[in-house]
Amino acid sequence: MPDTSSDLSVDSQLVALGRPPREPGVAIGPPVEFTSTYVADGAHDYGRTSNATWRAFEETLGALEHGSALAFASGMAAISAALALTPPGGLVVAPRHAYNGAGALLARLEELGAVRVHRVDVCDTEALLSAVDGAALVYMESPTNPMLEVADLPAVFARAREVGAVSVCDNTFSTPLLQRPLDLGADVVLHSATKYLSGHSDLLMGATVTANDEIHDRLHTERTLRGGIPGPMETWLALRGMRTLHLRMRRACDSAATLAERLREHPAVSRVRYPGCGAIIAIEPHGDTGTATAVEHAVRLWLPSTSLGGVESMLERRRRHELEPMSVPEHLLRLSVGIEDVDDLWHDLDRALRVAQAG
Ligand SMILES: *Cc1c(COP(=O)(O)O)cnc(C)c1O
Repeated sequence: MPDTSSDLSVDSQLVALGRPPREPGVAIGPPVEFTSTYVADGAHDYGRTSNATWRAFEETLGALEHGSALAFASGMAAISAALALTPPGGLVVAPRHAYNGAGALLARLEELGAVRVHRVDVCDTEALLSAVDGAALVYMESPTNPMLEVADLPAVFARAREVGAVSVCDNTFSTPLLQRPLDLGADVVLHSATKYLSGHSDLLMGATVTANDEIHDRLHTERTLRGGIPGPMETWLALRGMRTLHLRMRRACDSAATLAERLREHPAVSRVRYPGCGAIIAIEPHGDTGTATAVEHAVRLWLPSTSLGGVESMLERRRRHELEPMSVPEHLLRLSVGIEDVDDLWHDLDRALRVAQAG
């Protein structure tokens, strides 16, 4: 067995990391440490500052993303801590179609005068790079949720570095198996661990990862002071889910590629957005909002639910949320492909699309 975790492939790291020391009679997995406080003068002090179960999760995710991780109560708690890296009144550059919670939080911070926000089309590299010139913080998502637009991340992060802006990248859609933003030059990676990392749609959690010690300390301070900490049970479940991330991701990505290809030929579908990897697809059925809603009602295997990244396939008309930007088409359906049999998924979707079309 290789003796450093960096000698291991990602598949083995997912299984081997975050475990207690290999000693006779010691459990092979981390315990769930249910405690609010610790006996003084040791490695842990108070339960809002650290917890051994968080460490096991953080060690594993940190190794995968090539930095040090911090576990948060939700993806939004992690995003909130990362946005707090912006100096007062500083300019944040963000995708016009960022995750709607992140977009709404930025609008809220803007309203309160805490930050200024410049929203850009991330596909327009020239406009994006010139926006970065005046930024204090660059907030990236690629592919974006739910429009699946792809940004030239290395160019953006390089420009951010040149102008002294902190760059942050939400890597929820890709996971470290498909994309490692820190290797592409980002300062901070964000995750909604609610999605692929935990993978079973049974908890909410988030994380930050950075290779910059000063930023890590600042994020840790934000977590401790704002109190956006995860419960030990959720953290334990998230790590347990991560043990199979590679298997789930590979399966979901393969099925998504197959479904995207078939959907492109489907008579009831006018547009398919699929960036060529990952397990999220966005489709626009022919017809109107009613047709898209009818698809949500007609599926039997796919779940009509607002999340993604679980073993269960889900779909949703995103514009049913008030927070969703108006530039997202009304009838766009976001598909999160799970790990069911791909032909079962296809038959269910094909039937639902035909039923909805028939009205
Ligand atoms: C769900 C999601 C979030 C928010 O995460 P929560 O765990 O729900 O707080 C952030 N970014 C992306 C891309 C998401 O899909």
